[in-house]
Amino acid sequence: MELTFNIPCDSEGYVAFECPFCEIEFKLLGADFQKEEYIYEDLFCPYCGLADKRDAFYTKEQAVHVRELCQNINTKIIFAMSQGKESLIFKRKKRQEMQ
Ligand SMILES: [Zn+2]
Repeated sequence: MELTFNIPCDSEGYVAFECPFCEIEFKLLGADFQKEEYIYEDLFCPYCGLADKRDAFYTKEQAVHVRELCQNINTKIIFAMSQGKESLIFKRKKRQEMQ
C-alpha cells in the first residue's frame, strides 16, 4: 500500500525540511519541489551537505502529520471491515495466500 502526502506550503509557497543530522531547518519552493516532470527523490542539506532520501528530511511536525494520517486510514479500514466491507487490498492479499 503506497500513500502520498501533500505537504503544506507556508504563506510564501515554501515547504520546510529538517536535516536529520544537524537538525537545521531549510526551505524549498513548493512549486519547484512538486513539479510533476521533476520530483526530488533525494535531497541534500545546504548546511552540512548530508544527502538522503526526501523522506528523511521531513520536519517533526510533518512526521506527526503523516503519522496521524496513517492512523486515520487504519481506523477507516477497521471500520470498513467491521461493516463487512473488505477493501480491495485485503482481497488481493487473500488471493496471494491461496497460491
Ligand atoms: Zn544538515
